[in-house]
Amino acid sequence: MKSYDVVIAGAGIIGLCIAWQLARRSKLTIAVIEKGAAVGEGSTGASSAICRVRYSVDETLLLARDGINAYRQWKAFTGLAEPAAEFIEDGVLWMPGGDRGWADAEHQRMQGFGIASEVLDDNDIAERFPALSTCTLAPDIDTGEAHVCEGGSRNLFEVEGGYVDPMAASSDLVDACRNVGVEVRFRSQVIGVGVSGGRIQSVSLDDGDELATPLVINAAGPWCNRLSAMVGLKVPWTLEPMRIQVMYRDRPDTLTGHIPVTADLAGGIYFRTQNNGQQLVIGSVREEDEREAVADPDDFRTETDDDFEVVNLHVLHHRLPELPYSGRVRGYCGLYTTNCEDVHPVLGPTEIDGFWLANGFSGHGFKLAPAIGSMLAQALTGEKRDFDTDIPLSFLAVDREPISLTAKNVLA
Ligand SMILES: Cc1cc2nc3c(=O)[nH]c(=O)nc-3n(C[C@H](O)[C@H](O)[C@H](O)COP(=O)(O)OP(=O)(O)OC[C@H]3O[C@@H](n4cnc5c(N)ncnc54)[C@H](O)[C@@H]3O)c2cc1C
Repeated sequence: MKSYDVVIAGAGIIGLCIAWQLARRSKLTIAVIEKGAAVGEGSTGASSAICRVRYSVDETLLLARDGINAYRQWKAFTGLAEPAAEFIEDGVLWMPGGDRGWADAEHQRMQGFGIASEVLDDNDIAERFPALSTCTLAPDIDTGEAHVCEGGSRNLFEVEGGYVDPMAASSDLVDACRNVGVEVRFRSQVIGVGVSGGRIQSVSLDDGDELATPLVINAAGPWCNRLSAMVGLKVPWTLEPMRIQVMYRDRPDTLTGHIPVTADLAGGIYFRTQNNGQQLVIGSVREEDEREAVADPDDFRTETDDDFEVVNLHVLHHRLPELPYSGRVRGYCGLYTTNCEDVHPVLGPTEIDGFWLANGFSGHGFKLAPAIGSMLAQALTGEKRDFDTDIPLSFLAVDREPISLTAKNVLA
């Protein structure tokens, strides 16, 4: 039987970042087991991978800052001479609509953490992002009726925000891990976890292999409850896979100028460009669009619903008035794994000795992943490295109290 110090179940962005953060500071023997044929099998493959720092909880904001710092310096973080992933620093624009005090207050908060941000008014937006309307009114999504737009907006701009191709980032992490001896196995499923005397002993794989290990990290994304059930663990949090819809369409020539990653809070959508600005990716930030629980993460509808497209295109046209109504729209769906208690992940040891969780990342997991890996790696090795976060594991520990929030959605 092959033996490892750590076995990580799942090669999504979380499992891979944990593996890499462990490997770059220790001599631990590590195996990452992934049932898919390649990276991107789960939530990570569908991710919009937007990297924005602003969160309402300070610790989460700092984790986002630290995670994004790794993506921004990806070459140094991964140690790869020619990584495939590149941080697209388009900036992140928050448009809060009629709330004219919000951007100034958040800007001050960002300044306190040394995060580069600006407050932009109608004139600034017209000059820098001419494709965007600054209307502060919410479009009517029930009737689709037009209104006379109103200006006077005050918007928050995160200067150093952006996005990354999640598949490229994941492939880079596989390379970085393998370069230092981590075993990353694809087409290999964990089907059992051996526990004896309340302690982890081994994992069983679907190809008949058994791996001896004292430590299993559950990084199985939407499949996390199945893995926890293998050790008979009753996780004290409700972690539910939720179907999330995303659309994309070509960007026509009429949409000129720079388009930042935009969170249109009045309308309830976000959008960003991809493929060198040639396409637009559009998703919802409305809480009701994050609440479609999926019983089986292997079996859910992967096309977008007609009414989702109609509503969100209506909002998009309100924000991008020069966008023509013609042009093909496509869609796909992925899964958030939502912690229904406080939309924050749960991390670290459980009551079963050697069984650790890294689950429940909702719509936050991509940007947080390098910092999440850092938290776990520091807790397991006691070693600190560059690109580490100072936020302790206790913030997200399995036995913590729920974090108090005003809204339990992706923008929490
Ligand atoms: C549509 C969408 C948009 C998003 N947009 C953003 C965004 O803009 N910014 C952001 O920060 N986050 C975003 N997220 C959230 C982010 O993508 C996720 O939080 C993150 O990808 C979760 O990563 P993970 O590794 O936990 O899960 P996954 O990527 O699902 O990885 C889990 C892996 O475990 C494997 N696995 C499961 N069970 C087993 C087993 N028994 N044996 C072996 N392997 C197993 C699966 O095949 C899978 O590959 C978005 C998510 C979605 C769905």
